[in-house]
Amino acid sequence: MGICDSCHSGCCRSFAVPISGADIHQFTHRQNLNFWDFACRWEDAEGLISRNLAPHFFFADDPETPFVICLKHIPSASFPGTTKCRFLMECLPDEEYPKGLGRCGIYQERPQTCRCFPAKLNDSNELAILYDIPSNGRDGEPAYDLCSRQWTASDLNPNETIQSLIIARYEMTFFSKIAMIWNQTPGEWNHFPEFIDRIYSNRIISEPRQNTPSQSTTVTESAEPFNKAA
Ligand code: SF4
Ligand code: SF4
Repeated sequence: MGICDSCHSGCCRSFAVPISGADIHQFTHRQNLNFWDFACRWEDAEGLISRNLAPHFFFADDPETPFVICLKHIPSASFPGTTKCRFLMECLPDEEYPKGLGRCGIYQERPQTCRCFPAKLNDSNELAILYDIPSNGRDGEPAYDLCSRQWTASDLNPNETIQSLIIARYEMTFFSKIAMIWNQTPGEWNHFPEFIDRIYSNRIISEPRQNTPSQSTTVTESAEPFNKAA
């Protein structure tokens, strides 16, 4: 049994989970979800959510506040007065599991941030380092209790973990470029899904034919006219 199998999923309750534009595109196109049903913006003035990985976005309705795009939280049924990721499915407590069990409702399609927890890449991008996980993720509420023990290397698949970390870093680096474009002239929050959809639907381009002058453009260049018009 894996470390998470008998857990109420305190991590999915405690943390604001940053998502990338690729995650957003996946949810809206492959799972047919509405952006407003799974995404939100979390204020992050101190950078505690972005942790220098996820980009900050600014919006016309609140131009001084840096936001990170995250999974939405909703009220918990198992722990009244607390919140949880909107994708977390809760099994109510019983004698064997006094805090209940938690299961990700989109496990196969979960965001890269979730796939990587609790590992990060070392400086050379070759090794994964496990975080020291605190006993509680927020304010001491039992709902936010975290892992029953520290993780060890044997808890994770070494190849999948590194590959997930590389993808997560790549996508957040790309998302940061998108944020730079958006932040040049921040649009309204309600325009954001359309902006993201346009960019991520145009990530694949055809190479120009041989002997044809190259007119290739980057995805980030193609985003600029939209942003200026927004
Ligand atoms: S998407 Fe799944 S793994 Fe990620 S926070 Fe939500 S419930 Fe947890
Ligand atoms: S809190 Fe720790 S053990 Fe529980 S589901 Fe999250 S990562 Fe797994």
